[in-house]
Amino acid sequence: MRFTDLDGEAGQAKLASTVLPRTPRTILFLPGESHFTAAESRGFAHVDTWVFDLDNTLYPSDAMVWPQVDERITLYVMRLYGLDGLSARALQKHFYHRYGTTLKALMLEENIDPHDFLDFAHDIDHSTISLDPALGDAIERLPGRKLILTNGSRRHAENVARKIGILDHFEDVFDIADAQFVPKPERSTYERFLERHGVDPRRAVLFEDIARNLAVPHEIGMGTVLVVPRTLDPFREAFEQEAVHEAHIDHITNDLAGFLSERVLPEMR
Ligand SMILES: [Mg+2]
Repeated sequence: MRFTDLDGEAGQAKLASTVLPRTPRTILFLPGESHFTAAESRGFAHVDTWVFDLDNTLYPSDAMVWPQVDERITLYVMRLYGLDGLSARALQKHFYHRYGTTLKALMLEENIDPHDFLDFAHDIDHSTISLDPALGDAIERLPGRKLILTNGSRRHAENVARKIGILDHFEDVFDIADAQFVPKPERSTYERFLERHGVDPRRAVLFEDIARNLAVPHEIGMGTVLVVPRTLDPFREAFEQEAVHEAHIDHITNDLAGFLSERVLPEMR
């Protein structure tokens, strides 16, 4: 049974039995299923530009990239304020919830140099990242342009994508500096991205691991795919990882390479 087969009353009853009674709803993938498609979603045949977030989207959370970046940011906050680790951690979480990113908070409150911050935060060990030939093959076979849209730095995106073995498939990276240090989900960042790369949002789709970062893209006509972890990642906020079906999410998957080859590529022939 697939979620897309759940039309009509019988289907709705089956769906209700698989959805937790809470708001927002959490989709429980059925055994053997990795993908969910909303009934009203458009397919992919019209798409000519494929846009991917980087962190926790193009690599799985067990690649241990984000925990390292997160720890470097804590270290930066410790040094800047002369705090112990626990206090810095608390402050960092406060910044994240209040400003969206610690970088934005520190630029506004402490006037730090964003380039210094990004170099420091992304100075990580890349040996934990594995080649992903299945993902590389699927991305290569997507017809059209492929771009990375990240709240991190270009150098970080290039280093990570190179290790996954997918960098050469991308035309360019639009990073947080290109966004004038205004992170997703701010509307101006998506608009700047579309303008810079001459992308028609109605012919583009965005793959992203944070649900709220898909709201503006959906509003401006992009297709939206939420990429969730297969198991809950203890290093990240729970709200970032829920397989939440909201109106602005067209598809949900916990297996990006599988989604591209099983759901997207068959439509492109
Ligand atoms: Mg991400």
